Amino acid sequence: MAHRVLILGAGFGGLELSTTLSETLGTAAEVTLIDRADSFVFGYSKLDLMFGRSSAAAVRNPYADFVKPGVRLFRETVTGIDAAARRVTTDAGTHDCDTLVIALGADYDVSGTPGVVLGKNEFYSVAGAAHLATVLPGFAGGDVVVGVCGAPYKCPPAPAECALMMHDYVVARGLAASTRITVVNPLPSPVPPSPDTSKAILAAFADRGITFIPNIRVVSTDDSARTVTLSDGNVLPCDLFLGVPCNRAAEVVVRSGLTEGDWVPVDPFTLATRFEGVYAVGDLAATGVPKAGVYAEGAARVVAANIISRLRNEPETARNPGAGSCYIEIGANKIARVDVDFLSGPKPFGTFHGASEEMRRDKEHFGASRRARWFGR
Ligand SMILES: Cc1cc2nc3c(=O)[nH]c(=O)nc-3n(C[C@H](O)[C@H](O)[C@H](O)COP(=O)(O)OP(=O)(O)OC[C@H]3O[C@@H](n4cnc5c(N)ncnc54)[C@H](O)[C@@H]3O)c2cc1C
Repeated sequence: MAHRVLILGAGFGGLELSTTLSETLGTAAEVTLIDRADSFVFGYSKLDLMFGRSSAAAVRNPYADFVKPGVRLFRETVTGIDAAARRVTTDAGTHDCDTLVIALGADYDVSGTPGVVLGKNEFYSVAGAAHLATVLPGFAGGDVVVGVCGAPYKCPPAPAECALMMHDYVVARGLAASTRITVVNPLPSPVPPSPDTSKAILAAFADRGITFIPNIRVVSTDDSARTVTLSDGNVLPCDLFLGVPCNRAAEVVVRSGLTEGDWVPVDPFTLATRFEGVYAVGDLAATGVPKAGVYAEGAARVVAANIISRLRNEPETARNPGAGSCYIEIGANKIARVDVDFLSGPKPFGTFHGASEEMRRDKEHFGASRRARWFGR
């Protein structure tokens, strides 16, 4: 019988893992990929959607276009994971496997942040970004708070990108003079592993009069009082809240007993969980590496390489590099980039590349190359 690989979640991690297995093994392995959604959306597309640079239809990459030899993709919702038995329950039935890879990403938890409502005043879900796209045209100036409710959260530079894109937006609408933008972030700087990147972002903030409040998180928002309350007790005026909700592993993963705290503990180099033949890849894995697509993809390639080696009776030598590049919207429609290596040295090391035309082309290529590789378009 062919080796059965079951992959939960067709996001950055799941798509790359199943693509790599298909490329190398074809139908020699039986790969099943499960996702509850009908399409994949790049994280950064949520910012484009929110600020009207793209439409809801344009940012969707339908799973119907994901066609790979040896891979079956089912639209099902995972409802239970028995890691010891490598058995997964969904709303459609039960799946057993030889290797289980959990790549369900980070979920959002607003239960501890009164006033933050999924799909309404946050830009981390597609629904939230789409809703804010309908709210922004009615914004007439005032206090904008880009507020992070907890760390770690996906894509550390995203709140800074949101603030800079918001500034561009109010300039275009002639509202800059009547708008104040504040970023509240539990991190000590916009991109802690790269002081040069943080410096460039803080300089961009200073140029535009954007206030950055570090080491503090938003604990509640109040629409009627038009305020947000911070973890140090301070209260800020707020006419428009653009939120980053608390991130954590999905409830189904927590219930499965795989988590410690909010995330799944793994060997950061092999992504192995404490269960034999069970791996966790991407945002939900506690690797010490940021929660970003590019790192999920790198981890997925390692798990794929080691599965392939095992099937060939070769040593499983692939190790997670924990290194990657993130493109940053730095304002005025410019793109910069930070490369950060988290696992090869004694401490994380980041290199900043300033904005250039080449960088915009690079970012476009980043998205286009994945669309072509995964969806053939
Ligand atoms: C605003 C924003 C900007 C970003 N910008 C960047 C960027 O520029 N570069 C970058 O590298 N990263 C960026 N990211 C982060 C990036 O999107 C994530 O880190 C990445 O998608 C994580 O990959 P993953 O495979 O772990 O999870 P995901 O890509 O989130 O995939 C998880 C999948 O699991 C599915 N799923 C969840 N629960 C269930 C269930 N119970 N049953 C079935 N399916 C389920 C979901 O539908 C989803 O498709 C950004 C994120 C945001 C929010």
